[in-house]
Amino acid sequence: MCSVVGYVGADYSRKFVLEGLSRLEYRGYDSAGFACIDPDDNLLMYAKSDCKLRSLCARLEKEPIDGFVGIGHTRWATHGVSSQQNAHPHFDCEKLISVVHNGIIENHHVLKHELEAAGHTFHSETDTEIIAHLFEDSLSTYNELHGALVDLVGRLQGAYAFISLVQNYPDTIILVRKRSPLCIGIGQGEMFVASDMLAFAGKCRNVVFMPDES
Ligand code: GLU
Repeated sequence: MCSVVGYVGADYSRKFVLEGLSRLEYRGYDSAGFACIDPDDNLLMYAKSDCKLRSLCARLEKEPIDGFVGIGHTRWATHGVSSQQNAHPHFDCEKLISVVHNGIIENHHVLKHELEAAGHTFHSETDTEIIAHLFEDSLSTYNELHGALVDLVGRLQGAYAFISLVQNYPDTIILVRKRSPLCIGIGQGEMFVASDMLAFAGKCRNVVFMPDES
């Protein structure tokens, strides 16, 4: 297992995302990461650690990044060793799309081969990185999020829950799930998302368990 956590709202996201990940440490993990959209320039920023969450927190204390939209991940490696390179978030070629993912993309070999043939360069051994590059490919065809996402999920096989931030859509958090859990907490002017509602327990009253394949 592993955990994905996200926040969008009027507050800065980092504190909630790191706290949420720490509440979900019971699920086990080998590395951790955080990404957000910098509110000053709308650039996608990230930090990763190849070990414990506390070293990610320490890195973020030293080199702080934060934003009103943020996502985080603790990884339990299924494809590729535990390393900085393989830690989430993963990105497309232009580093404009970030993805944190819980699950397995079963057809990643075929997709990677197709994407490499189309000119995409990969930087990790994970199945997750496929999602970011495939999303890049779909967005370049559809030029809008909904069509691109429908196309993307039509090409993925496996069990997955992923959260994505796209630099060109700086106020948006993208949630997709198929056979891996994802729940949403709705607060006052803010929204929490996580693999397990324990991540945001006590912060909001309304919780939605995302239906499968949504
Ligand atoms: N399959 C992905 C990986 O190996 C995600 C694993 C997880 O659920 O943490 O990076």
